[in-house]
This record gives sequence, C-alpha cells and structure tokens, in this order.
Amino acid sequence: MSSAPRPPHVRTPRTPSRRGLLRGGMALGIAATTGLVSASPALAHPGRAAAPADNPGAEWIPAAAANFTVADRPAEYPVEYVVIHVTQEVYADAIAIFQDPAKEVSIHYLVRSADGHIAQTVHEKDVAWHAGNWDYNTRSIGIEHEGFVDDPAWFTDAMYRSSAAATAAVCDAYGIPKDRQHIIGHSEVPEATHTDPGPNWDWARYIDLVNGR
Ligand SMILES: [Zn+2]
Repeated sequence: MSSAPRPPHVRTPRTPSRRGLLRGGMALGIAATTGLVSASPALAHPGRAAAPADNPGAEWIPAAAANFTVADRPAEYPVEYVVIHVTQEVYADAIAIFQDPAKEVSIHYLVRSADGHIAQTVHEKDVAWHAGNWDYNTRSIGIEHEGFVDDPAWFTDAMYRSSAAATAAVCDAYGIPKDRQHIIGHSEVPEATHTDPGPNWDWARYIDLVNGR
C-alpha cells in the first residue's frame, strides 16, 4: 500500500428537503421491489428471496440511510453519466464508511480488487453522494474500485472486467453512450477536489471492455 489511507470523499451533500425525507420514509417500505436494471431479481434467482440489488450479480450491502438521497430516477432525474472512482481504502473499510451515517458518503457499486466481486450499496433509482457535485450526483451512477491511485497493482484484470460489465449494464439500462464523454473519472467532475481514478487507471482498456472489445 503506497499511500496513507484517507477518507475517499469528504464533502458536503445537499441537505435533503422535508419532502425528500417524507418520500424516503414512504419509499423504504417498497425498496425491495424498485430495482431498475433487473426488473425481477426473484425471477433471476427463483430459489432465493428477492435480492434487492439492481444488478443481479451484485451483493446488496446497503449504505446508511443518512448517506444518500431517496429519489425516483430516471423519472426524477435523467441518468447520463457513470463516474469512476478509486476508494483510497481497502474494501472492508470502504463498506464501513458507507454504512457510517456520520460519513455522508455513499456509492452505487463498489468493486473488490482481488476477484472483481461487486457490492451495491445504493439503489440506482436513488442519488448516491459520491461526485462532490450535487448536479452530477443526481445524473450519475457511481462506481468505486478498491485500491489506491498511485499503485496500479490494485487494478486487477478481474476488477476491470467485472466493473466494465456493470458499467455496460448501466449504459444499456439508461441509454448512456459507452464513451469517455459519458463514462468519466471523479477528477473530471466540474469543481472536483479529488484526483481519482488517477493516471494508473487504464481508460483505453476499460472503454474497450465496456464496449465488449
Ligand atoms: Zn472518487
């Protein structure tokens, strides 16, 4: 590990409106039935209870309710971008951060370095707090990658392939072009103060994988 771990995304999210809080409370009761990408997870896995993850390959590990904004995307906001991040934390610590209501940060998907395992912590219909920019948060899906920007050893083949498949599924679901204008780094978000995914992230390879090349 080549850099001191530091909080990946310290930022000040917009305070949810009272209406938003009320809607959030109402939405909690139906959260398990609102998946967008996989309309019926129960059908995908008929032997199991309905899995609330939108991506049927993802493990549902919900973020603290205080760390994201309940919404009704894409009806409420268009979903136009995928924002690529690197955690600056190991996987377990990143999960703990998303589950800590004091951290005010969350992500839709977190990809593990060693094996490409994906955790989903916020539903795609909801607004995760990851881009440090409210407008981009409302219009994007965020994907975190376990690792550190200055050590490319974290960016494994398994991680690239698994993440690219997840991004491709998001692009297909919302009609997002699979290019660098729409699949962007956190550092490319206007007014971003973060540098991830950094110069070691292989964008050409990633975009090729997203496009099935
Ligand atoms: Zn980031």
